[in-house]
Amino acid sequence: MRLILLGAPGAGKGTQAEVISEKYNIPTISTGNIIRAALKNGTEMGLKAKAYIDSGRLVPDDVVISIIKDRLAEADCHNGFILDGFPRTIPQAEALDTMNVKIDAALSLEVSDRDIVKRMSGRRVCEKCGCSYHIEYKKPTTDGVCDACGGALVIRKDDEPDTVIDRLDIYHKTTEPLKSYYKNQGKLITVQGQSEVEDTSKLVLATLSEI
Ligand code: ADP
Ligand code: ZN
Repeated sequence: MRLILLGAPGAGKGTQAEVISEKYNIPTISTGNIIRAALKNGTEMGLKAKAYIDSGRLVPDDVVISIIKDRLAEADCHNGFILDGFPRTIPQAEALDTMNVKIDAALSLEVSDRDIVKRMSGRRVCEKCGCSYHIEYKKPTTDGVCDACGGALVIRKDDEPDTVIDRLDIYHKTTEPLKSYYKNQGKLITVQGQSEVEDTSKLVLATLSEI
């Protein structure tokens, strides 16, 4: 299965990607995670992206498109993949089409702006390995400590409330038009985000089993 996950920042794309990845045994490709790793490792791409990512703006199309091109060429993508956080602009979607990447579906996770703002304030991320948690919905076993690696859990700089409002604005202006883009290709599926993560996962898996 080749799947695109759409949705506002904090809609739960990453969490659902994990569930789908396990069920279908395909890798999740998160441009956000790739860029943050580059940033941490101080690579040239990371340095280029830093100002954008910290302020919640989108990293330029050419940078993310080249990340995706390289990543999709890797062997583990041959049986399918989940794109989490790409494409985020029409030119990025067009680049995928130009690369002749045939997508089965673009699944949009629908969550209201009000709920997004609420959710983002509880989000925590491991500063060592990048795993995501939530103080209410996805608690670590020990408060403030990553289950996977023991690293400290921190608030991402771009999850500060003012930045979240800006990111939502960018989402509606720049990313949401992708829903029409994929609707026109007959590939759009929408799933309503539920208040319990497990309920959203059930809906997502049931919906995917029908395609
Ligand atoms: P979230 O899912 O919470 O929005 P991500 O980890 O997907 O967060 O993205 C964090 C940041 O990384 C974005 O705000 C943006 O700066 C950058 N980024 C990730 N993917 C893309 C993309 N496809 N195009 C442009 N910028 C991106
Ligand atoms: Zn960790």
